[in-house]
Amino acid sequence: NPPPANRRATGLIPGDGIGREVIPAGRRILEALPSSLGLKFEFTDLDAGFETFQKTGAALPERTVDVLKNECDGALFGAVSSPTKAVKGYSSPIVALRKKLDLYANVRPVKTVASAANPIDMVIVRENTEDLYVKEERTLEDPARGGVYAEAIKRISARASLRIATIAGEIALRRQKLREAGAASIHTSPLVTITHKSNVLSQTDGLFRTCAKEALAAPRFAGVAVEEQIVDSMVYKLFRQPGSYDVIVAPNLYGDILSDGAAALVGSLGLVPSANVGEGFAIGEPCHGSAPDIEGKGIANPIATLRSTALMLEFLGEEKAAAKIYAAVDANLEEAKLLSPDLGGKATTEEVVSDILKKL
Ligand code: ATP
Ligand code: MG
Repeated sequence: NPPPANRRATGLIPGDGIGREVIPAGRRILEALPSSLGLKFEFTDLDAGFETFQKTGAALPERTVDVLKNECDGALFGAVSSPTKAVKGYSSPIVALRKKLDLYANVRPVKTVASAANPIDMVIVRENTEDLYVKEERTLEDPARGGVYAEAIKRISARASLRIATIAGEIALRRQKLREAGAASIHTSPLVTITHKSNVLSQTDGLFRTCAKEALAAPRFAGVAVEEQIVDSMVYKLFRQPGSYDVIVAPNLYGDILSDGAAALVGSLGLVPSANVGEGFAIGEPCHGSAPDIEGKGIANPIATLRSTALMLEFLGEEKAAAKIYAAVDANLEEAKLLSPDLGGKATTEEVVSDILKKL
């Protein structure tokens, strides 16, 4: 007898642009998971984004937040367009969601297929609530400083640093478990690299460093190797030897820069997933934006979204289901017959999705 259906309420927030073309793929792959896994998904369509703002005056309607908070186990978020000029009253709904749901970790796996010439398999874990992103800036004037000057607060707390390092350690352990369960990987043992610039910022980054080390020294992380690296030398090594990283943990700003840089190592933004993770809740979100240049053409690569869907499942504790999605995506990429144009192929979004569903 199959196990009782494990119901999972999933919010779907397509947003703008190609978000509307790729989020349906996430839904389809969840619906296509084998029934032997015993999972049953219930979907709720939710609005957010620039178009929602233009229609209703709110980029993130209250209903979206309420449903996510009270009814959902996880969600998929597509993309929102960022208007080139600041629009009065508009601000990014995903930034607001991270705050409202306390999604304190941004998790970004960057991975090539195993057969790549220089295989990469790393995860960047970015602190997502503080650092320079507290956006406490001001512009002042002082003749002694030559006139106008501006400054910004970089805020680092022990609490946020401890919890981001803890989740990085947990991710490293889970990746090890996935490997032991047969997942292909270039790594053989878990490693967390702590990134900072404490040689210059001894108090802020110094606190991050101390707390990260403390969190990762917990007995349950005994099997996780921990190293640290100054962010500038990290960038160098990231580009020279990307295969040597497993899990990287970083404060907000360095994490932002490192994760976009790492995404460039795998060829297309259309491949790179992410998850916004809090206590018991995760939103899968492809790393790309709304891609106005290809919107409506039906050629957006759905893989970033499919991998984000798998990542969401990982954080819901459904590693088996996640592993099946990763394997189906890898099979499509290894075979390289049905690839979207960003990867040099000719396949449409629909053709790529059908191929991956077939492989699943
Ligand atoms: P936004 O303001 O919403 O971030 P953008 O103009 O920055 O939009 P991105 O979505 O960040 O655009 O994309 C950058 C480039 O990568 C674009 O040329 C886009 O077409 C391409 N791209 C992004 N995502 C995909 C995808 N899923 N499939 C194919 N190409 C993509
Ligand atoms: Mg962009």
